[in-house]
Amino acid sequence: MAVKASAASEVVLISLGANLGDGARTLRTALAALQTLPTCRLIEASSLYRSAPVDAAGPDYWNAVVAMHCGLTPEVLLARLQRIEKAHGRARPTGVHNAPRTLDLDLLLFGSRHLQDERLVLPHPRMHLRAFVLVPLAEIWPHWTLPDGESVAQAARRLQQLGQQVERVGPLAVSPTDS
Ligand code: ADP
Ligand code: MG
Repeated sequence: MAVKASAASEVVLISLGANLGDGARTLRTALAALQTLPTCRLIEASSLYRSAPVDAAGPDYWNAVVAMHCGLTPEVLLARLQRIEKAHGRARPTGVHNAPRTLDLDLLLFGSRHLQDERLVLPHPRMHLRAFVLVPLAEIWPHWTLPDGESVAQAARRLQQLGQQVERVGPLAVSPTDS
């Protein structure tokens, strides 16, 4: 059952990525799982994108970004995201930087909160460097201003011009008759 967001709920942005297994399917089931989180309600989901791994080897990624209203605390939401990752077979091999993954859910933004602790940094410290985050985000929030003052759309274009390739492949959310 969808739970109505409370007055205290905040707008959160979450990035979804996968490059092991059936990534497109994983992102769709992860979107469904996000929509069952208590006090959280989907505002908008980007399309589904593909990108080459950044600063890592391995298969291409499937990517998307979603905006939600959420009444959980940032820490509880992160724990819930990690639980969804785990349910999709996410492993974290020790000592492997940017290891391929069945599902990665990163919390990009939680309202206007700034956090800097061991387990959670907000806004996400690398979102402005990643076309695979900004190109999907530019589809749903092109005019939003990044912490450094650049718009999402400008930063997405700039990173693509610098060689980070991200391609839209189709809708993320599919109706039951599409599958
Ligand atoms: P990646 O940085 O490639 O997404 P992981 O998914 O393995 O790496 O996450 C490593 C750690 O990053 C997590 O255990 C989590 O505690 C921490 N972390 C810090 N800030 C964030 C954030 N904004 N969103 C998600 N994870 C975060
Ligand atoms: Mg992560």
